[in-house]
Amino acid sequence: MPSESEPKPSSESEESPASWWSKCISTMKRTPSAGRGRKISIQIGKQRALDMDPDKDLKSRDLFESKLGDASAIQEYDKAYSALLEAEENDAWDRKARPKSKSRSLSDTNERRAATIIHAIREYERRVTFGNLPSEAIPGADTLDMGGQFLTNKERIDARSELFRIAKLVPKGALLHLHFNAELDPDRLLKEAREMDNMYIRSILPLDNTKAYAETEMVFSVLDPNDINTDVDIFSSGYTGRADNWKKPEMQKEIWMKWSAFKSKYNEKFPGGDRQAPTPIDTKKPVRICDDEPATIELDPAETWLKSKMILSQEEAYGQTQTVNGVWARFNQATRCFKGLLNYEEVYRWYIGEAIEQLIKEKIMYAELRPMLLDKFIPANNGKDKLDNATQMRMITEGVAAKQAQIEADPQRSDDEFPFGLKIVYCTPRSIPKKMMQEEMKQCIELKEQFPNLICGFDLVGAEDRPNHIGFYKEELVAFRKTCETKGLHIPFLFHAGETLLDTGGSGDPNKSNLFASVALKAERIGHGFALMKHPHLVEKFKRTPTQKGICVELCPISNELLHLCRNIKEHPFPELLAAGVPCTVNSDNPSLFRNSMNHEFYQIMVGAPTMSLYSWKQLARWSIEYSCLSSDQIKRGLSILEESWRTFCKDIVDRYDKALMDGDEINDKRAELFYSHQLKPQPESQEGQAQEGIPEED
Ligand SMILES: [Zn+2]
Repeated sequence: MPSESEPKPSSESEESPASWWSKCISTMKRTPSAGRGRKISIQIGKQRALDMDPDKDLKSRDLFESKLGDASAIQEYDKAYSALLEAEENDAWDRKARPKSKSRSLSDTNERRAATIIHAIREYERRVTFGNLPSEAIPGADTLDMGGQFLTNKERIDARSELFRIAKLVPKGALLHLHFNAELDPDRLLKEAREMDNMYIRSILPLDNTKAYAETEMVFSVLDPNDINTDVDIFSSGYTGRADNWKKPEMQKEIWMKWSAFKSKYNEKFPGGDRQAPTPIDTKKPVRICDDEPATIELDPAETWLKSKMILSQEEAYGQTQTVNGVWARFNQATRCFKGLLNYEEVYRWYIGEAIEQLIKEKIMYAELRPMLLDKFIPANNGKDKLDNATQMRMITEGVAAKQAQIEADPQRSDDEFPFGLKIVYCTPRSIPKKMMQEEMKQCIELKEQFPNLICGFDLVGAEDRPNHIGFYKEELVAFRKTCETKGLHIPFLFHAGETLLDTGGSGDPNKSNLFASVALKAERIGHGFALMKHPHLVEKFKRTPTQKGICVELCPISNELLHLCRNIKEHPFPELLAAGVPCTVNSDNPSLFRNSMNHEFYQIMVGAPTMSLYSWKQLARWSIEYSCLSSDQIKRGLSILEESWRTFCKDIVDRYDKALMDGDEINDKRAELFYSHQLKPQPESQEGQAQEGIPEED
């Protein structure tokens, strides 16, 4: 006989075998004495129950048929499944962004409806706009994979996606990871360069054969004409500029060619070369083909070719033979090409206001920009005088104040559009010698003393698969922190870290991960964090909990894809990072090179994982403000501005799409067909094709 404490076999109770068994398990878990002896007695009990089961003598085939309708067993499964779903939902990283379940307020009702609409539109577009349905048939030529390669999909996203249209309206909070030179598109900078009589250009190869056009790197600079020989000709075989001699002072006279002269000669050689089609220029609007708008600036063949050096093409990003190092080298070339077009007095001033307008257009209320400040000067307009870092910081402060005053004076605009201005993260490359790094840190601290409200962080930048890892500078970084502490200065470390697949800090040693160094140095945020999920112990440090603020990860998904960390957004580890409880923000990194925008980044997040929802967007936007370098009062105000604009956004979504598209919680396909054909503009001609078709044949 079974003892009192032992479970009864099913034949002695009303319970089904399954529920009886699950009770056995829970009893075992609760009873501390459950051990080897007890296990044996349960097994004996189970065996006895089986022996007494009248179904035992049925044929297996018949028994299976009879079990198909076993409602209690199915119920048991459903219960277990629901419990798992509920546990995941209750613990979801974005749960605090959801309206309370019992709330019936208009704004919460709107928000729930907007969430349903966005989900339905995403799934409709996956099926219809992209059309990649599971089938044995080879997909048609018009089929694309939603969430597949960004540049491959970009035209479809920009021209045909209502989800992208919605992504443009999302209030995004703050942009915390944006390289200084990379917010405006090349067209606009090339146009500005036309006005600079002393803009010069150099090459690392003579442009005397077709191959050289493809292989060379081009760099701009504003220079003093008195320092340069007037007869320098980059197209001549005698041109002496090379990758290894351009720094030599004695070479400076020989390698720079006047940009206007270069243009004339190029356009003469290739009169039928690629041209960017002209469309009217609206000077009031910031211009960017990286966004969904057609280019508004006519570029001549020389400018169009230069533009192809400044942005990453599909072939460069996804080409079969491309490597991580290869695409990084190309990315660095493009960065250097941008630098000279932007870093001179005239455009530097103009740029601040234009960049702010672009941010506002993308529904961003505040940004932290990352200039590389290793070059201590930018040229004044005459190419002779130099403006030091402090002068540049002053120009930024003045530019922000001027833009804010302009917004304030405009009765059509609200102060809440860009209430906190910009801040600057001091960036320096991780490739420099230690002595130079020490000087960099001293200058960063001095700049902070001069501009306490502007300088907000310190960062080391550059490809992580090359020397040096962050720990290489540990003496300097520790001294930096201690100096700041003593001086009462707050300059948090906001390192690029984990932007790599190898995660060995440019060595062969897995113990040289920049992620460990970032945590040990008490970084407050890190850029990218792509490799973080490889370190479960570190993930604990990053997590946000009731007792720990955690370390924020500045996600840059499109950048990661284009620089070969993953093939597309669906392979990016952002859902895992979020599910693990790591606070994250969404960032565009280098929009002018990658042809992305924050609108594209938010779109990608939504199509990158089926668990993403309207609430995910909201939580990410909230964190972008909470983990920014704003003061606690500003964060409070920023969050309240966000809440207000969020309510308007949700209402707009419901007004625009509910009646026009929805049938209950689903899209009505017939209405959608009509809606999509009416609402969306005709597909613009690809600008990329024009800029990337390679070198025109010499006439
Ligand atoms: Zn970056």
